[in-house]
Amino acid sequence: MAIIEVSQLTKSYGTLDVLKQISFDVHKNDVIALIGPSGSGKSTMLRSLVHLEQINGGSIRIAGEALVQDGVYSKPQEIKRMTSRMGMVFQHFNLFPHLTVQENLELAPKVVKGESASDIRKRSSELLDKVGLSGRATYYPAKLSGGQKQRVAIARALMMNPEILLFDEPTSALDPELTGEVLQVMRKLAEEHMTMIVVTHEMGFAREVANRVIFIDQGEIVESGSPEQIFTHPQHERTKAFLNRSL
Ligand code: ADP
Ligand code: MG
Repeated sequence: MAIIEVSQLTKSYGTLDVLKQISFDVHKNDVIALIGPSGSGKSTMLRSLVHLEQINGGSIRIAGEALVQDGVYSKPQEIKRMTSRMGMVFQHFNLFPHLTVQENLELAPKVVKGESASDIRKRSSELLDKVGLSGRATYYPAKLSGGQKQRVAIARALMMNPEILLFDEPTSALDPELTGEVLQVMRKLAEEHMTMIVVTHEMGFAREVANRVIFIDQGEIVESGSPEQIFTHPQHERTKAFLNRSL
C-alpha cells in the first residue's frame, strides 16, 4: 500500500498556479528524489504534505487516510495526527537559536508529553551519536558549522519517530565541503529503509540513493522513473534541458 498518495493536487497563490494536477504515490522504503528548476513548486509540494501550505484542490492520503480529499480537509486533530507521521528537514536548518543542540532535539517530544525525560534523553543521545555529534549536545547552534547544524536538524526530525522524512534542499545552504557529511547521514537513513522524499540539486546523490526520480517543471510532473530512466534515458525535452544545465 502507498504510504502517501497525492492525486490531482492543485495549489495557487492568487492567480499564480504553482502546482497543477500533481499525482504520485510514495511506498514504504521509497527514496524519492524530487528535482526541477527553481520556482517549479518543489517546496510547495513538500510543505503541502505536512500542511504548512493549504492546497486548493485534489487529495492527499497518508497511510490510506485522507488528509485532504477533493480539496476538503479533515479535522485539525486528524490532520495533526497524520502529519506527525512525517518529519521535515529544511534548507536553512530552522534550529531554535536560543536552545542547545540537546534542547532542540528534546523540545517537541517534551511538548507532546507522555514520555519520561529519561527516555527522551536516551533517544536524543542515541540520535546525536547516529549523526556523529555526540560531543555537541550542550552547544548552541551558533557554535556549529552548517553541516553540523543540518545533522542536528535531521536528528531532531527523527526524535518524533517519523515514518517518512521530507528534505527540502538539505545541502543547498552549505559550503561544498560540508555537503558530504549531510549526504552521508541521509544515505545511512536510506540504507536503514527510511522512507524519504528529497528535494535536491545533488544529482549524484539522487542517482545513487533514490529508487525513483520525479522531475517537476512549472508545477507539473513532466517525467518520473528510475534514476537510470531519468538520468540516462530522459524522454522529454524539458527533462533533457534541465539535466544538461544541472550535471
Ligand atoms: P521551488 O521550491 O521549486 O523553487 P516553490 O515551491 O518555492 O518552488 O515556489 C513555486 C512558485 O510559487 C514560485 O513562483 C514562487 O515564487 C511561488 N511562491 C512560493 N511561495 C509563495 C508564497 N507564499 N506566496 C506567493 N508565491 C509563492
Ligand atoms: Mg524550494
